[in-house]
Order: sequence, then C-alpha cells, then structure tokens
Amino acid sequence: MIIKPKIKGFLCTTAHPIGCKQDVRQQIAHVQSQGEIAHGPKKVLVIGASGGYGLASRISAAFGSKAATIGVFFERPAVKKRTASAGWYKSAAFTQFAEEAGLYAKNLNGDAFSEALKQATINLIKQDLGQVDMVIYSLAAPVRTLPDGTVVRSALKPIGQSFEGATIDFNSAELRAISLDPASEEEVNDTVKVMGGEDWELWIAALLKAGVLADGCITTNYTYLGSEATWPIYHQGTIGKAKEDLGRAAKALIEPMSTVNGTAYVAVMKGLMTQAASAIPGMAIYLSLLFKVMKEKGNHEGCIEQTTRLFKTQLFAEGELNLDEESRIRMDDWEMLDDIQNFVKERWSSVSNENLSEISDFAGYRQAFLQMHGFDIEGVDYEADIEQDIPIELFIG
Ligand code: NAD
Repeated sequence: MIIKPKIKGFLCTTAHPIGCKQDVRQQIAHVQSQGEIAHGPKKVLVIGASGGYGLASRISAAFGSKAATIGVFFERPAVKKRTASAGWYKSAAFTQFAEEAGLYAKNLNGDAFSEALKQATINLIKQDLGQVDMVIYSLAAPVRTLPDGTVVRSALKPIGQSFEGATIDFNSAELRAISLDPASEEEVNDTVKVMGGEDWELWIAALLKAGVLADGCITTNYTYLGSEATWPIYHQGTIGKAKEDLGRAAKALIEPMSTVNGTAYVAVMKGLMTQAASAIPGMAIYLSLLFKVMKEKGNHEGCIEQTTRLFKTQLFAEGELNLDEESRIRMDDWEMLDDIQNFVKERWSSVSNENLSEISDFAGYRQAFLQMHGFDIEGVDYEADIEQDIPIELFIG
C-alpha cells in the first residue's frame, strides 16, 4: 500500500511504518551520540511508552544504559486498508531495534487505567524481571474509566473566563479563531481524574503491594508550565489543575516509595509537538514561535534530547538534583530563558496570516506533526508500495 498523510483537524489518520521506524532509529542514534548514562536504570517500566516523552524515555533508558524495558501503551494495529497508529509502528520498531541490540523489550497494549492491565504488567515483571528500578508514568489520555466503571473525559478549557484565541489549520496553514467557554466544575474535576496524579498513585500502590519495585526505585511523571501567553488555556485552565494534582500525588508518593528507599519526581518538560500537545487549543501559535526562536538560538530540543538530558544531567547524575521551590526537576529551563520568552510574548498577539511564515516557524511545527506520523522524513521513499500490517508480540496476561 502507498501511504500518504490524511489530516483532519489536529489529527492525522494515517501513519507510515518505514518513516516511524526511521524516526525511532534517529532517536536511538541521538542517545548513542551522547554516550552511556552512568548509573542509569537497568529494569524500567514505561506507562505511555509509544509516543512523545514516554517513547523517548524508553529509548534513553534502553540505549543509554542498556535497560530492559516493559512498555505499556494504547495503540491501534493496522486493519485491512487502514494503517496502524504511529505509536504502534514506533513500538514495533523500538522492540525490533532493542532485540537486535540484545536488550529485553516487551509490550502490553491496552487501557493503563484498568486493574486488569496493571495486574498483567505485574505478572510480566514477576515472570521476566523480578523487579523494576524505574517507573516512568507518561500517559496522556482523553478519557478514563474509573475503578467503579464510570467513564470521565478531560476537557481542554479555561477556568473562570472564556478564552478567545487562534489556532493554525495544518492543511491550509491559515489562522482560525477559537473561542472556548469556561469549564464547568464537573469538567475541571473530570480532567483532574483523567490527567491528574490519581492513576499514578494507583499504579505505584499496586506495584508496591506486589513487591515488584526494587530497592532504590524511582518513579517520574511529566508536567508542563509554559509561557504566560498560554496560561489562560494551559496553566490556569483545566489541564493546569490536573498538573497541579501531579504535584500533590508526587508528595503523597514520598512515604510509600520510601518503603523501598525510593522516591517520586515530577519533571517539568519543554513544550513540544506530540499527539497530546497538538490537541491543546492555542498551542500551535505558541510552539511555532517557540521553535523559531529556539532554533535560531541553537537550544531547540525534541523529546529525545529532553529525556536524555534529564537522565544524564539530573536523575542519574552525581550529586544533588537541581529542584525548584516545588521540588520539581526543570527541563524547561531553556524554554523559560528571558530572551526566549520575550521573543514569544512580543509576537504572540501580532501573528497573522500575512506574517505567520516570517515571524514563526509554523513550517517546522507542521513538519514535526508530519514526522510524528512517519511522514516528511529524509531518506524514506513515500511512493513505495509497502506492507502496513506490522506485528508486535504483545504480553496478554
Ligand atoms: P503522547 O500523546 O505522545 O503519548 C501518550 C502516551 O499515552 C502514548 O504512549 C499512548 O499510547 C498512551 N496512552 C494514552 N491513553 C492510554 C491508556 N488509556 N492506556 C495506556 N496508554 C495510553 O503524549 P506526551 O505529550 O508525550 O505526554 C506524556 C506526558 O508528558 C503527559 O503527562 C504530558 O502532559 C507531559 N508533557 C508533555 C509536553 C508536550 O509539550 N508534549 C510538555 C511537558 C509535559
């Protein structure tokens, strides 16, 4: 099958297996170019392992410190003429590369919020690894089924006041006005249920109870703060409330993690193009401006540069961690530099259809979106007729 991108809104409904494989290959090459991660983790569970920060963390752990990895994700295999999701292809590629390098890599595909998937993961750890020394929670989900069966959805909305802003249409490359009503109390609470820290706590409780966390085990979760320009929709919005809850969860995990001499960290990561980020209203303009200035200044990073730097200079570096006043690790340090933020703030309100390509890097932002799905990657023949049904051996339970 010849596979082309099919973009609808902020979604691309196709993915290219060869392009996704090439993307994973490039991420591995970056990790290897940075040298070994001394004192890195050896047995790692990644929850949300197939895209963005979770996949990058898995690659940093496996190819930076030869870690055995178990990946949990929720991805779609190919069905007849429909391609698999990008995360499926990338997980297949990662697993193949890991095995070729002699590294253990196994996968579970299903709903990480469910008790059944938690139990299956525990069974796999017991069967193959005994214990894990790192648990990376990198889930970004739109919906969660609670332990009592209730289904709750996250809403990406402002709180207390409406939001008038703009987004950029991927197909026409034109600005489109967006207007969002403030979230109801129920929407705020539901978003916290989906994207807050509760499920992270449930995972850790289940793993501890099963005795599968090794002495000194660490667990991480990722958050975002970003620029004041995006605060009305992000930091002060429903998603910001959910992220606030991560801080609560990290504190609540200190005591249970101490029973294995371990600890829990929240790391503030840089704003980047990922499946989850592309769905947040208003982020397209911010990230297009951010990419422009950070590329010009030479300090632009992707997920793999971020997670590798997190591992090498923070989590597994010698000496004390560099934490902020709320005990978070700050990997958004370069994004938050004054010259970067001033550039964004000065141009934020004046972006128009006429000046979009001149003052922002929408072209780079759009390319990152395509590349996330395996398109527009150098060296890939997009006219070739290829197999879209790529298998992954999954652990069922
Ligand atoms: P992503 O969309 O790239 O990845 C999300 C992962 O979660 C995928 O592996 C997906 O399969 C998995 N997933 C979703 N629902 C699931 C379910 N029910 N069961 C099992 N797996 C499921 O997202 P991302 O942007 O890498 O986000 C990961 C974390 O990083 C989030 O906490 C996010 O807020 C945070 N973060 C993102 C950014 C950014 O700019 N993208 C910045 C800072 C922090």
